[in-house]
Amino acid sequence: MLRLFSIIIFLKAFVFADGFEFTLIKKGSSDDNNTLLVVGGIQGDEPGGFMAASLLSTHYKIKKGSVWIVPNFNFYSIIKSKRAPFGDMNRKFANLSPNDPDFHSIDRMKRIIKEPNVKMVINLHDGSGFYRKRYIDKWHNPRRWGQATIIDQAVMEGIEYGNLEEIANKVDSHINKYLIKKEHKFHTKNTKTHLRKTFEEKEMSKTLTYYAIGQKKAAFGNESSKSLPVHQRVYYKLLALEKFMDIMGIEFERRFDLTPKDLKNVIDNDIYISFNDKKIFIPLSRIRPKISYFPVPKGAKISFKPSSPVMTVLKQNGKYVVYYGNRRLTTLVPEYLEYDKFVEGVKIEADKELKNVKFGSIVEVKDYFNVKPDKKIRVNVIGYVNKKHKNESGLDIGKKDFLKRFSIDKDARRYRVEVYDAKQRDKFLGMILVEFVK
Ligand SMILES: [Zn+2]
Repeated sequence: MLRLFSIIIFLKAFVFADGFEFTLIKKGSSDDNNTLLVVGGIQGDEPGGFMAASLLSTHYKIKKGSVWIVPNFNFYSIIKSKRAPFGDMNRKFANLSPNDPDFHSIDRMKRIIKEPNVKMVINLHDGSGFYRKRYIDKWHNPRRWGQATIIDQAVMEGIEYGNLEEIANKVDSHINKYLIKKEHKFHTKNTKTHLRKTFEEKEMSKTLTYYAIGQKKAAFGNESSKSLPVHQRVYYKLLALEKFMDIMGIEFERRFDLTPKDLKNVIDNDIYISFNDKKIFIPLSRIRPKISYFPVPKGAKISFKPSSPVMTVLKQNGKYVVYYGNRRLTTLVPEYLEYDKFVEGVKIEADKELKNVKFGSIVEVKDYFNVKPDKKIRVNVIGYVNKKHKNESGLDIGKKDFLKRFSIDKDARRYRVEVYDAKQRDKFLGMILVEFVK
């Protein structure tokens, strides 16, 4: 019975490995010999790590030097919101059976770490409590991991950035200038892995960072506390990453202000997804948990482009679920339709201004909009209450004309305008969103 069970689990892992290959994002100059490798998501229940890596890949521009980012190392565990569906991935870097479900990912990661240009490796984690050198209380003591820069040893002789302890101390003092609360203070934790005497030291010899050290790469762990809300964990991680980049002479530009408040806004609201060659574009900020009659191409695979590498779409029970890290954002209930593409968009008059609008765009509207009639197309404004018209082009439509529950967002501001072939009722051409603004 147990054996059968493990076979089922293995088969499942095999199937899932397909859609959950981790992403390697290379930023900055391609011929650089001074690359920082940042790894997030080795354990799926540590969102601080994978959200920070994800934002580094989407919201930073590397102007000098190069940064390689794996934001979703254990993507399956991230989506499942489980630490280790097939055992702890951070204990698989010493010896591993080729039959292990994570074997392929571990092997691929080892090859990335070994690339000659990779000079520093940072593994991002969320740890319990607050690390302190001396015992203070249950949550603040040497056995805790949160708010610490982790090194396996103080110095690595003869390699670039081998002064691990000195670098860790510099990173800590940088972070400590910007603490939200005194309790969040960072310290350097040296696990002294090479001694391999205690249980902890032996366990640490199976980790990603210790593997990197074996390959003569400077390696660090970064742990923000699981006691903090996710955006605060990400805040401390980005402060750390910026200092590591600074130490390596890597220059960057950030697309937001590094404050906890701005960061929360970016994480929650600067998120999008587009479908089927951008015929449909959906902002995911404050999205409703369920969207009905979502046009999906008949007989073809749904294709999508998420704004974040920790975002994906899974088909479950005949519906499409949009996941973002540990969050389940929305469920799309499909309506299978044939797609066609003889027009790229439509003409819309919005508040007396006439615009050519491409499918997959958002039109901001203050008072009213009017999709200009065209013999070739039929327009369906989802949630528009006037039942008299089959084709809803040529009508002035305002916010009050909508049934609120048909908006895609919880604030009832964004509505779908869908365009079809006028002759063949079920041929879908594309979608536009109207967004009512003040
Ligand atoms: Zn961890």
